[in-house]
Amino acid sequence: MIQLNNNLRFCPQCGAQSFSQRCAKSLVCSECGFTYFHNVAATVTGFIFYQNKLLLVKRGQQPCLGMLDLPGGFVDSAESNEQALTRELMEELQLTIDNRQYLFSYPNTYTYKDVTYPTLDSFFMIKLNVLPEIIMQASEISDYCWLNPHEIEPETLAFDSHKKALQAVLALL
Ligand SMILES: [Zn+2]
Repeated sequence: MIQLNNNLRFCPQCGAQSFSQRCAKSLVCSECGFTYFHNVAATVTGFIFYQNKLLLVKRGQQPCLGMLDLPGGFVDSAESNEQALTRELMEELQLTIDNRQYLFSYPNTYTYKDVTYPTLDSFFMIKLNVLPEIIMQASEISDYCWLNPHEIEPETLAFDSHKKALQAVLALL
């Protein structure tokens, strides 16, 4: 079972120190019965290719500061995967896309400030015809690069789901 958070002990509703994780997705207060469902968060990720080179970014924030990452991010409420992908690529890279193909999804976890979020990561293929001008969002990205996907060392990627997805994409190329 994924440990969602080891520090949350006080019930947000009644204040008793009786709040604990009950199962993989919920925390429950044994005093008042308050239940918080820590559901899976959706993310979107782009495999963005230009002339057989794959776009990678270097993470400018925790978790995994400084490691290589594929562009993307969390899906907001009331947003589709496709809308989230378009928004994230615009925010992170000032990149506008005119095509995308859904590939597959992998589960993952994302820990931020001692809270672990189970995620479901959806991956898309994007093929660019023109080398784009990239303007990085400095708060999230410290650098970017175009790499031959066959030469990427999996251990340099920040997230396990991305390592699996890269292997799956290499099999498609
Ligand atoms: Zn309570």
